[in-house]
Amino acid sequence: MRKVIVCILIFISTSLTIFGEDNYNQPLIIINEDLIYYENISPQIKGGTTFVPISMFATSIDGIIKWDEEENTATIIKEDKKVEVDFENEIIITNDGNCIICNMYTDNGYLMIPFKSIASYFGYTVSYIESENIIRATDNDAVISDESLIQKLKNKIFKCRNKNNTTEEKIVYITFDDGPSLYTQDILQSLKFYNSNATFFVLSSSIHKYPDELEKIVEGGHSIGLHGVSHDVKQIYKSPVSLVTEMKNDSEVVMSKIGFTSNLIRTPYGSFPYLTKEYRDACVSEGYKIWDWNVDSKDALGADIKPSIIVKNVIEQVKEHEKNNVDPIILMHETLNSSIALPQILNYLTKNGYKVISIDYNENPVNFWHDSR
Ligand SMILES: [Zn+2]
Repeated sequence: MRKVIVCILIFISTSLTIFGEDNYNQPLIIINEDLIYYENISPQIKGGTTFVPISMFATSIDGIIKWDEEENTATIIKEDKKVEVDFENEIIITNDGNCIICNMYTDNGYLMIPFKSIASYFGYTVSYIESENIIRATDNDAVISDESLIQKLKNKIFKCRNKNNTTEEKIVYITFDDGPSLYTQDILQSLKFYNSNATFFVLSSSIHKYPDELEKIVEGGHSIGLHGVSHDVKQIYKSPVSLVTEMKNDSEVVMSKIGFTSNLIRTPYGSFPYLTKEYRDACVSEGYKIWDWNVDSKDALGADIKPSIIVKNVIEQVKEHEKNNVDPIILMHETLNSSIALPQILNYLTKNGYKVISIDYNENPVNFWHDSR
């Protein structure tokens, strides 16, 4: 039996008119600090309104979705809020009895609903970040600014936007430990020249020495990782608690400089042999992802190691990984000779078809323990 709907119809504008043309590149959606991404379907703009698959929306806000195929409705429930989406009549019924007339449609089996209307009902403020063509919905859980967030999600945004590029790109990660330093500026310039990105595992003591560099790293679109405080084996590996405490302290310093922090960690001298399961569990329970490397530039062997040797070390190992189809993760340090070697390394990599990217904060980590948590 069909339900009799008695309610006041509310006509609301579901559009964010600034979106403009229908054929504008499709936007990405961020809810608080999470980029919402589906493998098979993207948000779509039609008639100035952005539509998302209903299931994408429900899971993104940590809601529950219930389908009623007989009635052709779906209900999204989150805490004390509930909306029923009636596809046949194209209306949304909220649990306080309001009916909202909305356009909705099916694409490839996905039921598409207007994002702004529904998100607003669930208490989100929806805004448009025009420079990035991103729609962001925020509630009280959103703590960082749009600018910081875009920097933080830069890699992920890049990947989402390029997911349909079928040409297989070779990827390489370059990582710098122990900075920031006197050489950060040179390193950043070389990276910029080669349109490349890197990951900087920073020490809190170095940030204090070079307080302006962290922001420049972030401005360049690179990732930040944590490397701790003491860099002293006896101190940092005293216990799982001492390791986690150092990373947390480092994290607080990073946060105070750039307004967000990192979940990527590289433990001094690498995770082997110190990071037994007990240590790794402690890191994972704090949300840290443990990153080692598979290409050692050996630039930390001594101050007299020549730039040409550093270049040779890197290229030899990269070639080896290429044979085995493994993405190279290069370990470097912020030293004078490494900063001199870097342009030659970048020149080799880019000429050989590598895209030099920074580690994404959400990526499964690669470490000596094959612990990808
Ligand atoms: Zn180090």
